[in-house]
Amino acid sequence: MTLFVLSVLLAGVSTLWVVHPIFARKLALLADVERADVLDAESRKSVALSSLREIEYDREAGKLDETDYRALHGQLAAEAMQAIRASDYVHTPGDEGRHACGFRNPPGSRFCGGCGTRLA
Ligand SMILES: [Zn+2]
Repeated sequence: MTLFVLSVLLAGVSTLWVVHPIFARKLALLADVERADVLDAESRKSVALSSLREIEYDREAGKLDETDYRALHGQLAAEAMQAIRASDYVHTPGDEGRHACGFRNPPGSRFCGGCGTRLA
């Protein structure tokens, strides 16, 4: 009897040990999305969009049921929209690296990624 209880306990602990990192990662992503003061708008947008892609893959793979998918998708889509609006607000025309067409080019770019114009 003691052996049975110990084996059930061992099976439970090892299952938690395997499953925990998967859920911890998803929770960490969601927690980061809510920490607007730490991450800037571009980072929050990037995290929200990559999380949306990730839950899409998880749903397609059958790892996420429809109810959980819809709940997560609603949260992440709202966060992505908020981050995109904040990003647009932060990067007004005239910012460093922003071309006349409105595209924000990374430093050292030789051509504009938005319109293809050669940069000085
Ligand atoms: Zn341009």
